[in-house]
Amino acid sequence: MAVTTPANMKHWDSQELQQLRKRAKAWFLKKGRALPWRESNDPYRIWISEIMLQQTQVVTVIPYFHRFLQAFPTVIALANAPEEQVLLHWSGLGYYRRAKQLHAAAKVIRDQHNGSFPTDFESVLALPGIGRYTAGAICSFAYDARTPIVEANTQRLFARLLRLKGQLAEKPIQDQLWFFASSILPERSGSGAVNQAVMELGSQICTPKEPSCQECPLRELCPTFANGEQATIPSPKPPKVYEEKVEAALVVQNEATELLLRRCQPGERWAGLWDFPRFDVTTVKSASQLEQSISEQFESRFGASVCLQEELLQLKHGVTRYRITLRCFRATLDVSTTQVSEASNKGVGHDTQWCSASNLKEIPLSSTGKQISEHLRKLLDANGP
Ligand code: SF4
Repeated sequence: MAVTTPANMKHWDSQELQQLRKRAKAWFLKKGRALPWRESNDPYRIWISEIMLQQTQVVTVIPYFHRFLQAFPTVIALANAPEEQVLLHWSGLGYYRRAKQLHAAAKVIRDQHNGSFPTDFESVLALPGIGRYTAGAICSFAYDARTPIVEANTQRLFARLLRLKGQLAEKPIQDQLWFFASSILPERSGSGAVNQAVMELGSQICTPKEPSCQECPLRELCPTFANGEQATIPSPKPPKVYEEKVEAALVVQNEATELLLRRCQPGERWAGLWDFPRFDVTTVKSASQLEQSISEQFESRFGASVCLQEELLQLKHGVTRYRITLRCFRATLDVSTTQVSEASNKGVGHDTQWCSASNLKEIPLSSTGKQISEHLRKLLDANGP
């Protein structure tokens, strides 16, 4: 691969590369964390962990990883499970597209690879939801393939080891990082161990702020340390521009004290998961307008009107470029209109359902739906049914 070389970038000779491999592996043997997915080289377990770890911290992933593996111990078990079960076991981890793609990939493995996880890089990369990094990680950790990896932690480490200035997301910088990621791998065996070691170094030692250079086994080889440039390499990302939004979620109860849930539709946020009825009220200015806006939006979606009661809680969360304030209200159905109940009772409303508060934990809910349901459970525990 031809890559352009920025000025002042460090060039590593073969002896230095050998030193890097040796020191990183020795450090990892002593200091690497014992994580459940590192206990074996089973590609299925490694794959599940890699998908869970995208955008989610190790400490959060560990209990999910154990529960997921218990529910779906093999790729076939995952492929054969209903999507709702897969989403239920993902519920709370966020970024639900990952769970859907995991499920889709499991079906491809069942149907096109006789249920065995593919062993070559190209076939792994062709699976839904698997990119260059994840395919490289699975192949090197499971099969010790000579496949390079560049992800959030290694790209920071490599940028500093190369004294690479500029935005990490830029194509010429990415080309340099991937080239370096290949060059550090040994010609014969041992690529998996090197990749594990540099990932761990990036995550535990070469941290974004105040890296622990005094504990770093690569300190003597590192040009960024030598020049005291840890704060400026890699270049700080430009600040994200967020758009503020206000939304309202309704906890609507029927005569049997069940709660109304709605399944998010394809193309919507959290598609396939269940949520409390939710409406955009960003442009609403006053309390009376708020009630009117919610009533109208509820009526147009569910064919019934509601009366807003007390505000139960407010949640703040971010989705892509939006910063959302979610105001959650209790609401009662207007007694003269029972269409929502009727539709649900006849089974026609397959995208809505009434659910008792105690059964909410059996339903794959959106992230905020889950937080609302936990709040309701606490209220229920405090006040009784
Ligand atoms: S010496 Fe410091 S900056 Fe260089 S790789 Fe190690 S932790 Fe990172």
